[in-house]
Amino acid sequence: MKAIKIDPNLCIGCEACYKACKEGSIIIEDKKEGVRVIRFSGTCPEACISCKDICPTLAISFASVEKEEPFELTFEMAECKECGRPFGTEKAISFLEGRLKDFFDVKRLCIQCKQKMAINWF
Ligand code: SF4
Ligand code: SF4
Repeated sequence: MKAIKIDPNLCIGCEACYKACKEGSIIIEDKKEGVRVIRFSGTCPEACISCKDICPTLAISFASVEKEEPFELTFEMAECKECGRPFGTEKAISFLEGRLKDFFDVKRLCIQCKQKMAINWF
């Protein structure tokens, strides 16, 4: 059977794979202590590679395995500078800041605070 493999050094906890997987093989839980846990079921029923295609850090690969080996990764969440709400993992926000800093200022704001600021601007 096919299994999804994640390189824990490359994964930034961005949730793109979770949104892409229609089979429920990837589960995300944002806990109130300010951490995100991503659970990978270990096996992949479809091997459709949607998750691999969308992963921004090339953290996903596949392997043939004998039995299911579920695993999970835990990430510290970043807080919105305006309201304090956790809005993404620290690793994912830092990744974006590193990639986009030459183009525009990546503000550490949640989507709700960004929307409020856009409304106030008009
Ligand atoms: S898409 Fe890639 S980097 Fe993002 S959570 Fe999934 S494995 Fe990690
Ligand atoms: S290959 Fe497809 S079915 Fe398997 S974990 Fe990735 S998105 Fe889900």
